[in-house]
Amino acid sequence: MDLGIRGKTALVCGASKGLGRGCATALAREGCRVTLIARQREALEKTAGEIRAATGATVAIVAADITSEEGRAAALAACPNPDILVSNAGGPPPKATLDGMISRRFGRIVNITSSAVKAPIAELALSNGARTGLTGFVAGLARQTVAYNVTINNMLPGRFWTDRLRSNTDFIAKEKGKTVEEVKRELEKAIPAGRFGTPEEFGELCAYLCSAQASYITGQNFLIDGGIYPGTF
Ligand code: NAP
Repeated sequence: MDLGIRGKTALVCGASKGLGRGCATALAREGCRVTLIARQREALEKTAGEIRAATGATVAIVAADITSEEGRAAALAACPNPDILVSNAGGPPPKATLDGMISRRFGRIVNITSSAVKAPIAELALSNGARTGLTGFVAGLARQTVAYNVTINNMLPGRFWTDRLRSNTDFIAKEKGKTVEEVKRELEKAIPAGRFGTPEEFGELCAYLCSAQASYITGQNFLIDGGIYPGTF
């Protein structure tokens, strides 16, 4: 399916690895010009080269800490008028990108949050509250922008096999005196799908939410978790 976003500009934060990388790759494949943000330049350069080779897309990089003022300024200087924003590892505030999207009558913002918004993860402590607060903010804002064809949605990952989950697994293994393989198997067994998700699967949903066709979807929270959340809704 042609997602109708060829030639759009996409700013993807936390994009050198994991879920952000999955989103950047899927958007590049759809013909977007993507700007990748992460702190470590070497990993960014490698990822950008691989995405260019796989998709033929124009890929720019900015090595910056997106949680800092300077980092956000550098990201927006490299990609001043993004049509698409994937906000991850913090991400620039939607306010800095919204006005341009509204005036161009196209904008897609996807925030990568967590399944912890639906079902708090005790070990993550304050993060449960911070992400839930963002969800409330987005719920209000998303209803104000959709009339201008600017949508804002959240993606809630369950368990994806990225560097982050690898290091969490190492930590649990040490704490429990088990091997990493044992802990990995236990975690996977708890997922109805019987396996962790992949960044590629995550990227596919992100690309759809950024598509021309998704213009009537806003303010929503999409769990992508292989069925691990047990609730009916
Ligand atoms: P990951 O594999 O560790 O990748 C994180 C990416 O973000 C890297 O490219 C990293 O590069 C970049 N990054 C981190 N801090 C940054 C900063 N301050 N400024 C700019 N870039 C930054 O992590 P992931 O698994 O994709 O997780 C992404 C998000 O999803 C996180 O918020 C995580 O909590 C959430 N999440 C993930 C899972 C999962 O199963 N993986 C589940 C629930 C929620 P640098 O280190 O070079 O900056």
